[in-house]
Formats: sequence, structure tokens, C-alpha cells
Amino acid sequence: MTPASHFRHARFTGDCTVELTHSPIPQVLPGEVIVSVRRTALCGSDNRLWRDGAVQIPGHEIFGVVEQAGHMRHGERVCVYIPVYCGYCTACTRGHTQSCTTGSVLIGWNRDGGFGEYVRVPEQCLLPVPDHIEDRLAPLLLDTIGTSAHAVRTVQRLLGDLNSQRILITGAGPIGMGVLIALQDSGCEKVTVYDPNTSRSRFAENLGAQLLDDHTNQQFDAIFECSGAHAARDDAITRVAAGGAVVLIGENSTPWPIQEGPVFRRKDFALLRSFYFPVSEHNDNIALLLRQQKLYAKIADTDVTLDQLAAAYRQFVAGETMKPLLTL
Ligand SMILES: [Zn+2]
Ligand SMILES: [Zn+2]
Repeated sequence: MTPASHFRHARFTGDCTVELTHSPIPQVLPGEVIVSVRRTALCGSDNRLWRDGAVQIPGHEIFGVVEQAGHMRHGERVCVYIPVYCGYCTACTRGHTQSCTTGSVLIGWNRDGGFGEYVRVPEQCLLPVPDHIEDRLAPLLLDTIGTSAHAVRTVQRLLGDLNSQRILITGAGPIGMGVLIALQDSGCEKVTVYDPNTSRSRFAENLGAQLLDDHTNQQFDAIFECSGAHAARDDAITRVAAGGAVVLIGENSTPWPIQEGPVFRRKDFALLRSFYFPVSEHNDNIALLLRQQKLYAKIADTDVTLDQLAAAYRQFVAGETMKPLLTL
């Protein structure tokens, strides 16, 4: 049993090991609240922490309820925005809160995250979640919808209406599928997807995508690279049509050298990076979730308890599940 002053949480201790332990419930600093965690989604970007170990409690796709007696937001259902942004640097005042240059602290990375019963959260990182959104869909408002829809909006700003353009998504994980649904929501009927994992490409097909015939050198106007794999990034540079755009959303912890040959040099194209999303897009993301709830429900595929987290991680990393949710 957990003593009342303590909470139960996971730690990644390295070598793909998940340990469960207790710690004292954290004391909040001024401008912070305690959030009682209800769901935290597992994420492919945690794999590095899972392999190498982490000092902080991991978990960064957090949904819960503010549990801070006497605070004006006590009892509010919230998602946790992970960049602890300042609100006054140039990036923040221009609306790029995810790129704040003051602190660059990310919840679940540089301070404790949501793989536990409680998490300490700065007030500016509380994103309200309306009552009519189910608990298990709420964490999707972060990476799955927020990150993906932000990348789609970024490309739309550059290329205009994407409906008549040739679109490729590489990597059919939760981010790739989030991009697919956001594109379909904006009217794109024909979207091509590539993933070497057959169960993932079948998943994309079931959501209405067509699969890439990778024996052809088919060209695309917009390529959403969601895998982070160097080979997929190189392939995107080859496949992007003149005047088109490649947007990198996936992550890779090793440097990516670009071969500057004729393929890279002899065409106009935009190479974009998109990271997370600005807080100003949260309401649009809620509206998108409400319009496409049925499709998003297919992505949130498994609920796991803290005791099942270690096994769930192994399955997830093997690509057997799409978006497992730690349920507290
Ligand atoms: Zn994530
Ligand atoms: Zn800032």
C-alpha cells in the first residue's frame, strides 16, 4: 500500500527496465499545481529513455485532474503541455510557445512526467479538456493530434490547399496516423503511406490510406516524414517533387548527414522541421478531435496499469500496439 504522503510511479533504470517505486508527493512551487494523472500515453520518443535510463519520471502525454485544494483550477480536467514556456521571450511573444528559448525544459524529459499517480505542473502548461471528451481520448490532444495537425497546418501555409496535391506519409505510427486523419479532415482523399512494418501499413490502409509501391520512384508534392529513420529522410529528398516540401516530424538521436548530390541540388523544395505545437492551436485540436473521434479511438488501442507498464513497453517497441495508455 502507498502511504498517504507518497505516490506510486515508474522509473526507467536503463537496459529496457521499468521499475515501480514510491516517492513523496511533490511540493509545488509558486505558480504550480499538482495534477492527479488519469491517463498517460506511451510514446515512441520515450524509447531512448527506456533503453538508456532516465533520472526523471518519464511520460509526457499526460491527461489528469488538477488536485490543488483552494486553487481556482482545482478539479479541472487538463492535458499537460510539455514545454515549460516563459510567455515573454521572442519565440513565445510570436506565438511559438513550443520553441521557448528561456528554459527549454520539457515535462517528462527534464523534469518529472506522468508515469505515476501525480505530477507537478506549472499553471501555464494546463490545457483545459472539455467534459464531453472521453478520458482515454484526451491524451491524444498532445502528440497524436497536436504535433501532427501542427505539421499539416505548417505545410498548408506553405503549399496552400493540399487536396489536389500528391501526399506521402512515411512512418505509420501514431504521429503518421495523426497526420493522415488531419489531412483527411481537411478534405484530402488520396494520401499515400509507407511503413516497412506490415501490421502498421495495414492499419493505415484501414484508415483509408493507399500504400506506397516502393519499387517505383513516384514523386510527391508534400512528404510528412514521421519515422525519424535516416533512410526515410534520404528517400524523401529523392521523392519530393520540384516546388514541394518535406517536413520532418520524426526524431533520431544520431546526426543525419545530407548527401549533397544532384538530386538534392537541382530542384527547388522546402525542407521543414515541425516540433510539437503552439498552445494557441489547442482549441482547433479539440475541434478536430471532436469531428474525428471514431478514427482517433482506433489509435488509442490498449489500456495498461502501472504493473503492466514494463510488458506494455516491450510490446509497443516491437510495433505490436499503436498507442497504449497507462491508466491510473
Ligand atoms: Zn510523445
Ligand atoms: Zn519563452
